[in-house]
Formats: sequence, C-alpha cells, structure tokens
Amino acid sequence: MNKRERWFNEGAPLLRQVMERIGLADRLPSDDPYYACPCCLYAFSLEAVAAQNLTIEHVPPEALDGKGMLLTCKRCNNDAGRDFDSHAQLRAEFYNMLAGKGTKRPLRAVFEAGDTRVNGVAQSTGNGWFLEGVPKQNHPAMLDAHESELRAASESGETAGIKFTVKARFSSKHADVSWVRSAYLAAFSALGWSYILQPALNPIREQIKPGSLATLPPIIGFNPSYDADLRQIMIVEKPEELSSVVVRIGHYTVFLPDPWGTQTLDQLAASISGLWDEAGKVPFNLNGKIVPWPTKPMYALDTLTP
Ligand SMILES: [Zn+2]
Repeated sequence: MNKRERWFNEGAPLLRQVMERIGLADRLPSDDPYYACPCCLYAFSLEAVAAQNLTIEHVPPEALDGKGMLLTCKRCNNDAGRDFDSHAQLRAEFYNMLAGKGTKRPLRAVFEAGDTRVNGVAQSTGNGWFLEGVPKQNHPAMLDAHESELRAASESGETAGIKFTVKARFSSKHADVSWVRSAYLAAFSALGWSYILQPALNPIREQIKPGSLATLPPIIGFNPSYDADLRQIMIVEKPEELSSVVVRIGHYTVFLPDPWGTQTLDQLAASISGLWDEAGKVPFNLNGKIVPWPTKPMYALDTLTP
C-alpha cells in the first residue's frame, strides 16, 4: 500500500465519525469511505487516490523546504502553488538576497554602469553575488557598451556609477496567504477534522481558495530572528483573549481560531492587532500546550473523543 492510500484509509473513518458527531454524515455521498480535501472540503472516494486526484501536499511548500504531510486535492494543491506559494518563494529569495544568504535561483535584475543599462539575472551565493546579463533581453550594442564601461571602471577604480537593482515581482499579501495556508494544513494534520470543521475556520478556507483577494486580517507575523527550521504548534490558553492555535513555521507566526470555537477569526485578529510590534514580531508571552509537529496526519482531537 502506498503512502497516499494509507493516509486515505487512516483519514476516511475518522472523517465519517466526526461528521456523525456533528450531525453532518448525510453530506457524505454514500456509505463508502471518503476523504475530504481539507482546503475545499470536497469529498473524494478511494478511486481518487489511484487517479492522482488526491495528492501529497508539502508543508510548507516543497520549494520552501517543506515535507510531505497530508493529502489535498490536486486542484487545490496546484492552484495554491500558482496563486500563493510562488509569491512566498519569490519573497523568500528576495529577502535571502538582501540578507546576503544564498538563493536557490536567479532573480531578474537591472545592471547599470555609467549611462548603460543591461537586463539580466542576479543570484546570491552566500559569499557574494553572481550577476549575468541575459543577451536575449538586451541590444548587443548595449551589452558591448556596458562591458566597456565596466572595464573602464575596473581600470580606473572609479566604481561609483556601477549598481544593480533586483526586480522581484511578488505580492506580499499573496505570500502571506501561502504561510497561513501552510499553518492551516499543519493544524489540520495535528488536530484533525473536528478542528477544521468548526465554523470559525470557514474564513480561513475562504482566504486560501484559488483567486482569493488575500484580504487577511492581521493574523500573521514575521520575526527574522527565529530559526528558519522552527516548526511549532501551540494551543494557546493564556492570555485568554488570545485563545487560539498558534503555528510557527520558520520566521512566520500564524494565529488560527482555537479548537473550542470560543472566538471568531475577526475577534481573534482584533485581540492580536494591538499587540504586534512594528516589525510584526510577537512581543508577548503565550502559554499553552505544545502539539508535536506532524509528519503525517495525526488527528489528535478526533481520536481523543469517543
Ligand atoms: Zn481541494
């Protein structure tokens, strides 16, 4: 049995149990086993595994060093890659470049020397930058002129007129949605169906839908001093007004509604909004239960209740 089949078989009976407990079992198409995509809540039968319509999703996205954690439907997985994850990836590369850390792929850049401008790509190796003009994007005469300017500058030691500007086109709002989506998927894997099927999680699913307007309330913060490998889920109990599930993935901290439905996402966002400092760091102490970071769906809350 492959991993996807195993994850389907582990998740389907728990989904039915939870649907029965909350009185929604009649929403499942038949008595056969079904696994719902945690993003769109569409219920898939076992055939969807063989047909590759349920796919392994990486949390965070694979390009951001994520690991395969759960099943989502192929459409949600692909659409999120295009609509959100691509922005998160480009933003990460851009920040790494600024911080002088190594980048995985080249970013578009403009190089200037004297009066010449050349379009090309720049990549950070961690020890310096690798800059290259892309011939196709430039008039050959301009490339030649640029090269002579560079040569003249290196001979005279007069390098003030030489600079390069990185052109990274990403939307920070859409990049944020990518991290919120990863946080939601990690919380689902850790806690299970009973957690995501409460009404308080509906607005999160609205945000992570393909084509979302990405008008997130302020539930995400960024702290560059956190280790990029940090992975943590905490069910916050204190302070009470911050009762929530907090997911930390590297530099990002995301607040999600708590498992008991004590407050809506907007109420939670209102409690948090005054507390972020200017840099989006969380300057306050949170107390609660740490939930182990899932490497596969664990369904901790589904398996607790009889
Ligand atoms: Zn889906």
